[in-house]
Amino acid sequence: MAQDTIFGKIASGEIPVEILAETDRVIAFPDIAPQAPVHVLVIPKTSAYENVTELAAGDPELLAEMVAVAKQVAEEHANGDFRLLFNNGRSVGQTVFHVHAHVLAGALEERSLV
Ligand code: 5GP
Repeated sequence: MAQDTIFGKIASGEIPVEILAETDRVIAFPDIAPQAPVHVLVIPKTSAYENVTELAAGDPELLAEMVAVAKQVAEEHANGDFRLLFNNGRSVGQTVFHVHAHVLAGALEERSLV
């Protein structure tokens, strides 16, 4: 179970963000430190899952909904192509333990990962 995080506060509306896409269970908003021309975070509104492996096991339909929202963002803010990245664990760079997908799009100049 994820603890209260900055993304939990964003999901609840306590911390306002520019919402780029939203469903009943998912929101998308710009990353505060973009690593690509389009760098958007897609998160579930629930704080129940810390990472993508927990989410995939616990609610695969919610994971599929996040992918669909990523596609929507890429179509609205780039040419529809996108990279989807999940950091899964502290040692590979995960810093916020509320599952989130990085949507990277636009003219990517290099293949470095977030
Ligand atoms: P992680 O390294 O956990 O996969 O990614 C966390 C991401 O969240 C980072 O890319 C970081 O820039 C972004 N981030 C951290 N705090 C905030 C915030 O308060 N607002 C937004 N929009 N992004 C944040």
